[in-house]
Amino acid sequence: MEDQPQGFLAGHLVGFLTPRQVKRPLPDTEGMNLVKLVDDFHSEDACRKFLEGLRWPDGVRCPRCNGATISRIVERDQFDCDSCRYQFSVTAGTIFNDTHLPLWKWFMAVYLIGESKKGISANQLKRTLGVNYRTAWYLSHRIRAAMISDLEPLLGTVEVDSTWIGGKPRHPAAVDAYGHRKRGPRPGRKASVAGAVARGGAIRLRVQREGMTMRDFIGKAIADKAPAIYTDEWAGYQKLGDADTKHESVNHHAYEWVRGDVHTNTIESAWSLLKRSIIGSYHHLSVKHLDSYLDEFEWRYNNRRNDFLFRDTMLALLRAEKMPYKELIERPA
Ligand SMILES: [Zn+2]
Repeated sequence: MEDQPQGFLAGHLVGFLTPRQVKRPLPDTEGMNLVKLVDDFHSEDACRKFLEGLRWPDGVRCPRCNGATISRIVERDQFDCDSCRYQFSVTAGTIFNDTHLPLWKWFMAVYLIGESKKGISANQLKRTLGVNYRTAWYLSHRIRAAMISDLEPLLGTVEVDSTWIGGKPRHPAAVDAYGHRKRGPRPGRKASVAGAVARGGAIRLRVQREGMTMRDFIGKAIADKAPAIYTDEWAGYQKLGDADTKHESVNHHAYEWVRGDVHTNTIESAWSLLKRSIIGSYHHLSVKHLDSYLDEFEWRYNNRRNDFLFRDTMLALLRAEKMPYKELIERPA
């Protein structure tokens, strides 16, 4: 994996590492599994080495002045910048530096959260990692906060729908004679979520806050030139189409679910997966944190065929903005 002889990096040597010397590809974590994870990252040293390759694939850079002439202080697991004399570790300025938690617990948490199809609760994380609840809660929120899909507007055939999330199971009266959910605001801890999914592609989910219409959501989530948008018959979807986008709907009220290619089964499946994951993992969903739950869901869904999910999540964490615990718990609803 490295051009350097092993001894050069492993030995107690304060060397001068220039980008040219240590140029190497991003660490290879293809097909990560639990056994490989434990095998590769059971020591802090191995974790640090991995983070170093991920953070500086072209060689260590000073986080303060971007200098590339860096000395390695092996005994202290630190680097020393030759230009500005700043001494730093591989986790300096990243969220990994915020906790006194061993790196391997972070690694394990990232793996577990990324791999569990329906998410993992803070309580389960607590038991699995042998940490206290507060730490587990903090870890899962931190990791979730980094899971933000940076997506281009959706193209292709896109299905659009919205659903209600949260609160107690729906009262039967909230469902009409046809078994369809009634639209409109509901009291209590519920939120409406707007979703768009490109068939065979990515998903976009957003909490519909006051003043945000489905049309606003669609305008942001879907590319102007997407060839087709499929919805149900709801009046709010009228006149969605234009010259290069056809809009068709199935009429659920008339028991029509599929008409040729026109249906919303993909987004309906995503809703059921989302709801099962919320019920299974979180029990009491707080609408306040719904945005980050949706980000996590999106991340997992959009990376469902990514063999490098673990590496890419670690990369996202390295790049994530630091969010202090206080801010995290006080995040506005
Ligand atoms: Zn520097």
